[in-house]
Amino acid sequence: SSIFAAVEMAPRDPILGLNEAFNADSRSTKVNLGVGVYFDDNGKIPLLGAVRSAEKTRLEAAPPRGYQPIEGPVAYNSAVQNLLFGADSAIIRDGRVVTAQALGGTGALRIGGDLIKRIVPGATVYISDPSWENHRALFEAAGFPVDTYPYYDPATRGANAEAMIAKLNTLPAGSVIVLHACCHNPTGADLTEAQWAEVVKACASRGLIPFLDMAYQGFADGIEPDAVAVNLFAASGLSFFVSSSFSKSFSLYGERVGALSIVTQTKDESARVLSQLKRVIRTNYSNPPIHGGAIVSAVLSTPTLRAEWEAELAGMRDRIRAMRTGLVDKLASRNIDQDFSFVIKQRGMFSYTGLTAAQVERMKDEFGIYAVGTGRICLAALNTKNLDYVADAIAAVVK
Ligand code: PLP
Repeated sequence: SSIFAAVEMAPRDPILGLNEAFNADSRSTKVNLGVGVYFDDNGKIPLLGAVRSAEKTRLEAAPPRGYQPIEGPVAYNSAVQNLLFGADSAIIRDGRVVTAQALGGTGALRIGGDLIKRIVPGATVYISDPSWENHRALFEAAGFPVDTYPYYDPATRGANAEAMIAKLNTLPAGSVIVLHACCHNPTGADLTEAQWAEVVKACASRGLIPFLDMAYQGFADGIEPDAVAVNLFAASGLSFFVSSSFSKSFSLYGERVGALSIVTQTKDESARVLSQLKRVIRTNYSNPPIHGGAIVSAVLSTPTLRAEWEAELAGMRDRIRAMRTGLVDKLASRNIDQDFSFVIKQRGMFSYTGLTAAQVERMKDEFGIYAVGTGRICLAALNTKNLDYVADAIAAVVK
């Protein structure tokens, strides 16, 4: 009989499943608020001008395609460090941070997870409740038990920092704490700088292993302000992990560009940690692909391209903000009891709207508007053409 006879069908990825249903919907007015991708006002995934210029230069230079170093090129890794910690950062100067190019933010989280499993095999990983749906699966796949810390408060539609910190203060030393550095996915609720300082304190006093997931740098307030949590950790003297993703900030989703940075105590520790990380990478995919990393590296280190990218990133950020305000204004004018002004306070691409699973279902059935069953919507899928339609639909289902 077939070796696959007893293989069961795995459950469908809930969000990718939503895409399939959306694609199969024949209504011309349909809107997909489910997927975590930035679309421009025409509903298209942009190819940034800075990216296009860097690609043109690269195409003309026609460089050979040899293998990359296992951890990726120095220029790329150094550009990532500067973006996260600032070019004049003491931890960079002291050799306390090592970076490896990775296959997107997901790949960075996974090689980080695999490395931690070798160093602290008995650790439990704690993710926020709720969190990006792949966090749990990814750390479980790396062999860890995964638990949660309280995060979202439906009453305020914001973060409950007090409950979160209280929980951190009960955890055993060596626990891995996955933190959304900014633009929390799925809720859009972020901590304040003062609350981050408390989180750092809790991690220090309990001996926790912070793992910051930076998937949206530049999507909340800007490149530097969005690194506030990373820099509080950097200033604390703790050792910690940071995964970076350039999927959103460079609109390079399918190129799989990201990085894992590890902050250690000394230059000597860095060298040893990097040697172990290279073993993890070597046995997974050997070394990272060239193209996306080369583009990001060129944009970050060429002043004209860098300026162009920063302006384009600001454009994406401002457009999302305008959609947040627009949605709130339009809902306010539709004569409903519910106050949606919290949507303006949430940050990044997402909002936990408070829409129930039944209301989300009605939006899909009656309007062809697709959202996640938890009520998460992607603001970056709204545009000046569909905003009224979406506001009408939300008003209809909450009435
Ligand atoms: N982490 C969070 C919080 C995310 O929202 C995402 C993407 O949706 C990722 C990581 C993964 O990013 P990438 O597509 O670069 O793997």
